[in-house]
Amino acid sequence: MNEIWQEVYGMQGELTKRRRDLHRYPESAWTEFRTASMVATELTKLGYEVHLGNEVMDEKEMMGVPSAQILQSCMDRAISEGADPALVEKMSGGKTGVMGIMHFAKPGKVVGLRFDMDSNEVVESSDSTHRPMAENFRSTHEGCMHACGHDGHVTVGLAVAKLIAEHKDEMSGTVKFFFQPAEEGVRGARAMVASGIVDDVEYFLSGHIGFNADKDNELVCMTGGFLATSKLDAHFTGVSSHAGAAPEQGKNALLAAAQAAISLHTISRHGAGASRINVGVINAGTGRNVLPDVGEIKMETRGANTDINNYMMNESKRMIAAAAAMYDVKVTTKEVGGAPACELSEDMGKEIYNIATASGQFTEVVPFISLGASEDCSYFMDRVQRNGGQATYMMYGTTLKAGHHNMAFDFNEECLPKAVGILVTLAQHFGNK
Ligand SMILES: [Zn+2]
Ligand SMILES: [Zn+2]
Repeated sequence: MNEIWQEVYGMQGELTKRRRDLHRYPESAWTEFRTASMVATELTKLGYEVHLGNEVMDEKEMMGVPSAQILQSCMDRAISEGADPALVEKMSGGKTGVMGIMHFAKPGKVVGLRFDMDSNEVVESSDSTHRPMAENFRSTHEGCMHACGHDGHVTVGLAVAKLIAEHKDEMSGTVKFFFQPAEEGVRGARAMVASGIVDDVEYFLSGHIGFNADKDNELVCMTGGFLATSKLDAHFTGVSSHAGAAPEQGKNALLAAAQAAISLHTISRHGAGASRINVGVINAGTGRNVLPDVGEIKMETRGANTDINNYMMNESKRMIAAAAAMYDVKVTTKEVGGAPACELSEDMGKEIYNIATASGQFTEVVPFISLGASEDCSYFMDRVQRNGGQATYMMYGTTLKAGHHNMAFDFNEECLPKAVGILVTLAQHFGNK
């Protein structure tokens, strides 16, 4: 497979074209119907055994799914933009995950590769200096933008699938591709993992474009420091009344929400490690002269490990219930996202370091970087490791025009063949163990 690097560099035009197509049609969490349809069609064409919809998602474990109405309009939109209607139908309800499997003649290990597909809810820059604008691939879905680089991840995943299929005689064991919806808001991985599709994986790899790997031609072999996180919505329901004539007859949900927001930020920190808390949204009330009967907050916690995050979330639920009791209003809470912390498999990371260095294709190979954010890939990694397998998470270096989730985000498309080349090399290496 020595010629693999020549081949990937020869694919630059194809990779750029695919990435720009995905960039023009971004789809946010659980609405990746066009993207997933393209992935499934492509994998089938390449000879993979393809599973999607109910086969790869446990519906009970899907968090933060949009309304049926939003899902339907996104399904219609995807079909109008070229998605296969039969595939879209199988993904109804937002079950947009796709898995592709290929078994090779030579015996070996099961290697899992995971790519996330969703976009962000960001209005993309229309400034003439923003390359997607200047070169005509700006988002056509106003309010949606690939501002994290997942358009690049899908592009890389499909190119890896293509090269592996073309070189299947040189591969060993089995390769499984996981195309995951709803990474943003850490909502999608749990449902895919819960379906059991990752249970036989012995070596698991994923990664991200950019972030702390902000130099061209750089590769980070292990990305650690994933924070465990939980996302929660709380809805307070009180009783409305006339603010002038009968305020005493009301039960004030606005004050309960406000009290909860303040109290949440006073939760004691944990002595065992880092924690975070944020109330990011508060909405309440219906009119100036009405005692407010509705209030909601959207909040999140994080922790250096799963126990610390659980402590933060348990305390949060207690504070929210206490704030509701204080104003005699009702409260319901709903978990809308979450991810565990996870450990990296260091032996695997060291092998990646040696292989990447020996390839001579990267000007800088970094053994380890700490992320300090959350990624729901940790669900996959945690499950593989619990089953005795190894897992790690890489970063593909690129200079960035603006930070992740910024309206002017853009990356250097020359990072795409680099990511493809190393993933194909590693899939062959670990399959052959
Ligand atoms: Zn992101
Ligand atoms: Zn991302």
